[in-house]
Amino acid sequence: MRIGNGYDVHELVEGRRLVVGGVTIPFNKGLLGHSDADVLVHSVCDALLGAAGLGDIGTHFPDSSPEFKDIRSIDLLVRVRRMIIEKGYCIQNVDCTIFAQAPKFIKYRPAMEQNLARAMGIEPERINIKATTTEGLGMFGRGEGIGAMSIALLE
Ligand code: MG
Repeated sequence: MRIGNGYDVHELVEGRRLVVGGVTIPFNKGLLGHSDADVLVHSVCDALLGAAGLGDIGTHFPDSSPEFKDIRSIDLLVRVRRMIIEKGYCIQNVDCTIFAQAPKFIKYRPAMEQNLARAMGIEPERINIKATTTEGLGMFGRGEGIGAMSIALLE
């Protein structure tokens, strides 16, 4: 068994769609990035890559590459899953926490878990997504960005 963690933060700006866990969420701001800036999916990719000893998302999908401009991060997760399988591992479970003062993510949880499960080729029961505010404190509390942290277990 191998364990890995992933952490990511993206800035919230006007004029961008908010995509988290592959779900487009109605909000007055979206996350800034080279891809769709899906902070949750990026943290899951890094957790999986970390567990498999395969480096990080920035190495495999550089933000300097036009190939990954505006790409759906869920598609990157599908590629990461293939790398994991190629290394002979299977994904046991993934646990995630989103850090955001707003919006509320609770009602999007089932859809986000479905999207991640499909991309990783595992049952939704193997994925758990939580969300927390930071009680108004720090960059998340001020609404400057959204963060996500994930842990993955491979067998
Ligand atoms: Mg990122």
